[in-house]
Amino acid sequence: MDWEELEKQILNCKKCPLYKYARNKVIGDGNKNSDIVFIGEAPGEEEDKQGKPFVGRAGQLLNKLLEKIGLTRDQIYITNVLKCRPPNNRDPKEEEIEACKPYLVIQLDLIKPTYIVTLGRFATKEIFDLFGLKFSSITKVRGKPYYVRRWNKIVTIFPTLHPAAALYHTKYLPIIEQDFEKLKEIISNNKRGLLKFI
Ligand code: SF4
Repeated sequence: MDWEELEKQILNCKKCPLYKYARNKVIGDGNKNSDIVFIGEAPGEEEDKQGKPFVGRAGQLLNKLLEKIGLTRDQIYITNVLKCRPPNNRDPKEEEIEACKPYLVIQLDLIKPTYIVTLGRFATKEIFDLFGLKFSSITKVRGKPYYVRRWNKIVTIFPTLHPAAALYHTKYLPIIEQDFEKLKEIISNNKRGLLKFI
């Protein structure tokens, strides 16, 4: 499937009840040729309004975190587990995640990223499940790289907290900042051929 067909399918999707509330489907944004894909949870109010991921307050924080490690939004691709906003930003339900999962899988297959950065527990659990990794809790698995073989290469999965967590609890901000620094180190070591694994 190509991007055009995928976007058409998502725009017409009624596979779970969330389509009824969505002002816009939020498919993804950024560079489809990037090596780095960031995955969040679901669109919020601003994202639903604009039809773009991470454009609200959490998105502004994400932009700052990216900037600090020398990345811009144009250099990455970013999407969410769910393409429609859950009412009042409630947590995604298991059946909604299952219904929306094939779209994320196709997005990843089209991009074939070398790095998948998961933001928060929902994205991390989904990606861990997809790649056969054992998920316990976001606080336990975050801030470390996990290596899997896919698309004829080694793919690094790197979980961290969702930026929205740091907006609600400032104690999480230094943790996310530290994780982003680690991510920067992993990417630059990989570029310099220093990565050793499996
Ligand atoms: S959240 Fe996903 S599965 Fe549910 S209606 Fe929207 S696009 Fe379809």
